[in-house]
Amino acid sequence: MRPARWTTRMVFLFYSRPVFRAWEVFCNHTARLIAHKERMRSLQFSREWARLNLWRMEIQRGLGKISDSHAHVCAACGYCCKGTRERDAFLDRVMQNPRTEHLGARRRRGEMVGIVLARAEGRLLHLDAPKAQGCCNELTCHGCRLPRELRPMQCLAYFCGAAVKALSQEECEEGIRLLKELLKLQWAAVKLALRSRWARS
Ligand code: SF4
Ligand code: SF4
Repeated sequence: MRPARWTTRMVFLFYSRPVFRAWEVFCNHTARLIAHKERMRSLQFSREWARLNLWRMEIQRGLGKISDSHAHVCAACGYCCKGTRERDAFLDRVMQNPRTEHLGARRRRGEMVGIVLARAEGRLLHLDAPKAQGCCNELTCHGCRLPRELRPMQCLAYFCGAAVKALSQEECEEGIRLLKELLKLQWAAVKLALRSRWARS
């Protein structure tokens, strides 16, 4: 494995942290405020959300593959899954199920859309593992209950310095490419939300 160059690691961290974080907040709030809450659930718009969702899952599978190389670092740390706050945001829910009832900035009750889908498809992971205390509701002592492509985007997009240090040059370059794709996807979702506002009923 060729270790990643310092400059590549810095670029990766730049996209993963300040850029992705700010962009995610901006896109989620903007999409939530401008989407027409009825029209965005129509058959026409549901098809468009589904198309974006396929794109989202492909990106998350790619980021998940990279995560295998630093899984040992995260398993020893666990910081990202600590705290009981919910991780899913408006666009995570709407892309996975445009008919979701959870249309607020935060989901304060009920289950994550990904969990409902994974259960319906028999894809929940670590079924017999006890839940981890004081952590995300989806975390068990053996890891996350969700397959990677059904997790919130932020769970796959976040990398810290220690995690990135465990990656090869190729993995870092691929990670930067995938994070850029994720930014494009979120912008496409904002544009779709805007179209639902102005579309004819
Ligand atoms: S990404 Fe970093 S902070 Fe988060 S769990 Fe992994 S090692 Fe810990
Ligand atoms: S959904 Fe899974 S990966 Fe994301 S914070 Fe919760 S346990 Fe961690």
